[in-house]
Amino acid sequence: MIDLKNLTIEKAHQMMKKGELTSVELVSTCLQNIKEKNKELNIFLEVFDDALDQAKKADETIKSGKGTKLTGIPIAIKDNMLITGKKTSSASKMLKNYVATYDAFVIKKLKGDGAVLIGRTNMDEFAMGSSTENSAYGPVRNPIDPSRVPGGSSGGSAAAVAANMALGALGSDTGSSIRQPASLCGVVGMKPTYSAVSRSGIMAMASSLDQVGSIAKTSEDAKIIFNCISGKDEMDSTSVNFLDFKVTPNKKIIGVPRDFLKEGVDPEVLHNFEKSLEKLKKVGYQIKDIVMPHLQYSLPVYYIIMPAEVSTNLARLDGMRYGLRKDGDNVFDTFKKSRSAGFGPETRRRMILGAYVLSHGYYDAYYNKARKLRRAIENEFKKIFEDVDFVVTPTAPTPAFKFGEKKDPLAMYLCDIFTTPANIAGLPAISIPSGFSSSGLPFGFQFNGPLFSDDSLFKIGKKFEEIKGM
Ligand code: GLN
Repeated sequence: MIDLKNLTIEKAHQMMKKGELTSVELVSTCLQNIKEKNKELNIFLEVFDDALDQAKKADETIKSGKGTKLTGIPIAIKDNMLITGKKTSSASKMLKNYVATYDAFVIKKLKGDGAVLIGRTNMDEFAMGSSTENSAYGPVRNPIDPSRVPGGSSGGSAAAVAANMALGALGSDTGSSIRQPASLCGVVGMKPTYSAVSRSGIMAMASSLDQVGSIAKTSEDAKIIFNCISGKDEMDSTSVNFLDFKVTPNKKIIGVPRDFLKEGVDPEVLHNFEKSLEKLKKVGYQIKDIVMPHLQYSLPVYYIIMPAEVSTNLARLDGMRYGLRKDGDNVFDTFKKSRSAGFGPETRRRMILGAYVLSHGYYDAYYNKARKLRRAIENEFKKIFEDVDFVVTPTAPTPAFKFGEKKDPLAMYLCDIFTTPANIAGLPAISIPSGFSSSGLPFGFQFNGPLFSDDSLFKIGKKFEEIKGM
């Protein structure tokens, strides 16, 4: 029997290389696990019927000595990433039967390394949400406590790793969606520097904020996935080879934006955060209080820029080209009927909000102002990184909450308070598990690094994992 709970990608790779484990055994165990628990947890929207064939092929590659660290490793894929011949729905009714005609860049990379794509994971519709309650196919349950949400929007991907249904997963992060669910499910989630990973073949939510990244049990595993999926892609003109720009902060100073941590944060979260800072001190980091007056505007700026881009990106789903169609009396009626039937309430809310902030008369008051503030936030980070290596916060203001607890959309949006700054400024950020609440719910500790310090984030993440037990 394979001890999936303690099996990392790194360990599984070593075992497979030595012939102590085959990919077929590993994938079969994950599939068995999915079979037993998916009905309750609703993590996978589809388990791929060719997963075992992929595993067989991977075993041959490993035998021939040509494997990489990801060969034969079962990876779960968020349902907004295109895989040739497979359905990709963004957990929306709109794209219920949409079948991808090409591979996303990140999928091509995973396939190239012989990773086993095990299935597509449930998410908030078009990646909008912080709880996975906005999926058209029912919410995901948190494997740690099924009466609670797993976070979102990549709730399925984070839960898949936490429930040992895969050894790693891909998520996409526009304002929180890799890090916050990782934090709520007790796993590692990393949002790379904007442009380090190609967005080609990822269903766009807000193009200037979206970034694909890894979810795994350890920083080392998250790095293995990142190393595979990052790189320049001619299909995404914003993508670069991050190694060409790599920076390595080494002042050994960590910045804490104290003023930013005051309001609306669960006392247990704050206590855990302080304890984590103490641990970092013990291993030789200086902790410095910093002042970042613009940071508080990240969330409002996000909730203007993001819906603006959402309304533009989702305009193409109109019942004419592909996706759900409901015939109306004329072309506009068909748009209206198709979009009303295809999109859920949160998606509609964001499209309306986005159209509003972009409309003549309001554009200057909202959208342009948000863009200016975005620049101010970027500059504030740039300046602060002259003094400190990383800026740290809790990943989320609360641990996993109950279903239906945040019915007010604003209460839900506040879940992203600590995670949106990285997207607004394009920075890399990682969430590392940092212990448990009195009721056994996981906490996450977030490091934000300067642009292209992705490698250093994996390193500090690893260090943080090692000192966790102190
Ligand atoms: N929770 C945020 C939102 O609802 C972020 C989503 C994301 O990162 N995709 O928009």
